[in-house]
Amino acid sequence: MPLIPKSHPRAKSLLIREKLVDGFDNGLVAKEGLLAQGRGEAFDYLLGEKTGKAAKKAIKAAAAQIIQAQNPVISVNGNIAALCPKQIVKLANQTKAKIEVNLFYANENRKKAIVKILKKNGAKEILGTNPKSSTKLVGIDSERRIVDKNGIFAADVVIVPLEDGDRTMALRNARKTVITFDLNPLSRTSQTANITIVDNVTRAIDLLIVECKKLSKSNPKRLEKIISDFNNKNNLSENVVQIKNNLTRRARIA
Ligand code: ATP
Ligand code: MG
Repeated sequence: MPLIPKSHPRAKSLLIREKLVDGFDNGLVAKEGLLAQGRGEAFDYLLGEKTGKAAKKAIKAAAAQIIQAQNPVISVNGNIAALCPKQIVKLANQTKAKIEVNLFYANENRKKAIVKILKKNGAKEILGTNPKSSTKLVGIDSERRIVDKNGIFAADVVIVPLEDGDRTMALRNARKTVITFDLNPLSRTSQTANITIVDNVTRAIDLLIVECKKLSKSNPKRLEKIISDFNNKNNLSENVVQIKNNLTRRARIA
């Protein structure tokens, strides 16, 4: 990995890039995953590369939703495995969520590499690898309709970091409550999910872990209130306004 000086104004962003490039070289990340990262980076720039107020609200609602779930599942793809494998395992352990590997661009070798890195980071059980327990979600025309009977298929709440719009829609049609991380508040995924955390997953996932811990002892009524007070459409609008305000400020300086 080339050395990136800490003083570099884009140091954090460059480190994330390096993780993805390493992930690509190690067979975890698809070429398309590198492009998805690029799309995300552009929005991160516009959001000011920090976790905004709206994202914090979404993180709280997501934590409440995960804690009150009967059967939460975290869906892992190549990008997320390259960016934050340790945090995925931590979130799963802390909330008793299952982990399922689910790829848009299905590839057995890539799946194996993802399983390996998750295990290296402490994951015990990883679903999505046994063809005998696979089944199909209806209403989706891609490899990604294949899910694990004991995982996403049976889940009430599915956490899908960096998801594609078609699949988010299929999960909603299958009556799942969908939580996503997506830097683009305008994407179909953002607009379709029940709770969209508009933030870089590398920042937001740690905050989600902390919030899950905080709320873990809350009574169901409190959790329900947090969930029902959250409105995803309004939250996405707040994120768009944050981008607009950032741009207005920058336009004044320029
Ligand atoms: P959609 O299919 O939902 O309309 P899209 O086709 O524009 O979205 P995809 O390539 O399907 O985009 O999905 C990638 C999404 O992941 C993008 O919206 C991008 O903003 C987001 N993204 C990429 N990297 C990150 C990251 N590190 N953290 C959060 N979001 C990210
Ligand atoms: Mg897409």
